[in-house]
Amino acid sequence: MPPFYFLLNYIRIPNSIPLMRVYLDNAATTSLDPRVLESMMPFFTQQFGNPSSIHAYGRESRSAIEKARKTIAALLNTSPSQIVFTSSATEAENMAIVGAITSANIKHVISSKIEHHAVLHTLEHLHASQKIALHFVDLEPDGNINYAHLEKLLEKYPQCLVSLMHGNNEIGNINDIEAIGQLCKDHQSVFHSDTVQTIGHIPINLKTTNIDFIVGSAHKFHGPKGIGFLYMGENIRIPSFIQGGAQERNMRGGTENVTGIVGLSKAFEIAYQEMQDTENHLRQFKKYLLDQLIKAVPSITFNGTSGDVSKSLHHIVSASFPITDIADMLLFNLDINGIAVSGGSACNSGASIGSHVLNALYGEDERPAIRFSMSKYTTKDELNYVVKNIRTLFS
Ligand code: PLP
Repeated sequence: MPPFYFLLNYIRIPNSIPLMRVYLDNAATTSLDPRVLESMMPFFTQQFGNPSSIHAYGRESRSAIEKARKTIAALLNTSPSQIVFTSSATEAENMAIVGAITSANIKHVISSKIEHHAVLHTLEHLHASQKIALHFVDLEPDGNINYAHLEKLLEKYPQCLVSLMHGNNEIGNINDIEAIGQLCKDHQSVFHSDTVQTIGHIPINLKTTNIDFIVGSAHKFHGPKGIGFLYMGENIRIPSFIQGGAQERNMRGGTENVTGIVGLSKAFEIAYQEMQDTENHLRQFKKYLLDQLIKAVPSITFNGTSGDVSKSLHHIVSASFPITDIADMLLFNLDINGIAVSGGSACNSGASIGSHVLNALYGEDERPAIRFSMSKYTTKDELNYVVKNIRTLFS
């Protein structure tokens, strides 16, 4: 018998071709809004000039970039000169963290064990190369940070860098960035927040929040992949991150991704126009999904605050399921039924490596976990199809 036949014990092969394809992995990436594609098209075709060229073609591209910068800045209530376009949020996080440490000669960084790897691995690398000492803030059992402990750490290590995310991509917890910003101000510290899962999902007012760096990534709110941005507060200056060109006011060399920048700004604009409707729609759906999952698998538990609609990001539900013979292959079983969900954060190798967030909160937990993440395009029929399949798998 071929060696892989033993896998058949763990797979429930569907009787027929899956009826639907359902995408509930929107925290990993979202589909492109057709209006965004339309806004980008002219910059692939007629308006292809290099924005650094002084002729009319170049000026058209330059003006599109500056218009996009203005749009994004206005929606965040800041000035366009504070926005730098990057290739991704990961690049923007690196730029902020490495730049702050270098320019402000920072020796201590406070963060948490449940940050995205874009932050955590960057900090661990700086720690391993002995550039910084790294301190992790205590977490409450529900995954929220312990604010009293953060204050204690800030008293011990003033003038440090604090890197704490706004919304967690796996468990949907939301940190109070106003409160953290105030604590950082009181202790003369720099505050960077990974806002990838909240930008375009909930409003952020940079005028009223004491924050030095936030980041965004277009593909998380129905924009194109490969384009992000860094917001930098006016009180902080960091050295250029990529050498070899004067683009982005000498901050990041390299010919700008004009189509991406135009798409980012259009997606951001649409996200703001539709923000309230999308939030209402997803809050109702999240409540519905939670209720239906509990009915389908009564021993299910929800991770972080994701089981509480009022306390967590409205697009994310993270659930742990009982151990059964199909537990290890749960994602695969859903996949062969046409359902795309995730076991944690999207992993670039495609391999399942467990979740550092769930491990940090609950230790090594054998139970399989699934992150369901919705978007404005999610429908009730899709949720019903997913719940029906989960009920079958656990019956
Ligand atoms: N931070 C968080 C919270 C994320 O969810 C992601 C993407 O999964 C990133 C950072 C990285 O974003 P990008 O894909 O733009 O590098």
